Amino acid sequence: MEETSVKTSYYLKTSINCPVCGTEFKKEEMLSGGGRLIAKDITDELRRVYEPSKKAGEIYPLIYPVMVCPECLYAAYNDDFQVVSKDFLSIALSQKVKREHDVKLVFPIIDFRKHRNLFTGTASYILAIGCYSFIGEERAPTFKKAISSLRAAWLFGDLHIKYPDQNYDRLKTVMYKKAIGYYERSIKYAQTGEERIDSVKYFGPDLDKNYGFQGVLYTSSLLLFKYGEEEDEEEIVKLQNAKRVVSRVFGSGKSSKSKPSYILELSKDLYEKINTKIAELSKG
Ligand SMILES: [Zn+2]
Repeated sequence: MEETSVKTSYYLKTSINCPVCGTEFKKEEMLSGGGRLIAKDITDELRRVYEPSKKAGEIYPLIYPVMVCPECLYAAYNDDFQVVSKDFLSIALSQKVKREHDVKLVFPIIDFRKHRNLFTGTASYILAIGCYSFIGEERAPTFKKAISSLRAAWLFGDLHIKYPDQNYDRLKTVMYKKAIGYYERSIKYAQTGEERIDSVKYFGPDLDKNYGFQGVLYTSSLLLFKYGEEEDEEEIVKLQNAKRVVSRVFGSGKSSKSKPSYILELSKDLYEKINTKIAELSKG
């Protein structure tokens, strides 16, 4: 981050003990008050846009939520960090070298002992996607991978704006594609009960607003519509599926507490767009 006059983060006093390798470390948290964070619009992907403030410069709230052990690079969201399954402990530890290798392919110099920045923040999501394979189905790991993939795509987009020659836009696309797959599977697992998506308290997808499971349905369809390119015939099948999923959001047509009108409007709009695209593809 750029040097500014005010602090934008701090370390929690209580140490965290990594359940995988036993290393003690401190969690860094963002400071958002006092005019540091200026909220602007929400994008069609339900991402909050922030304007850099004079006081604190650019702040990226998304770089903080994933906890990462600086020693073995085990990573998960706060609530899940300590609940790595006993059955997976030894494999989680044995994959330390693999995690380091994978993350350094993208970011050759990276240090989670230092203050978070866009590089470590983005890397934290790549690590989380891998590490949720060690966490039980009662924590809805596939959904956590989905939201992590989407946030990684956003942050790669931010990196690409700052460093346009580094191929980060290609990685952004890769992460959007991953998100499509994980969102689709999350919805399927929610239906079959394979994973306890009802245990999820916060669906995001960004940090400032929880759009609930309706948001998951909408996001899944939107990502498929925007980034899911396939051969023509397969694309029609996929889009028809996306249409079915998004129509569940406005099924009853009324907004409610769990179905804010904002998402209702976005979903109807998306439904129309998908319809138009299907019609175009069918003609060709
Ligand atoms: Zn560790």
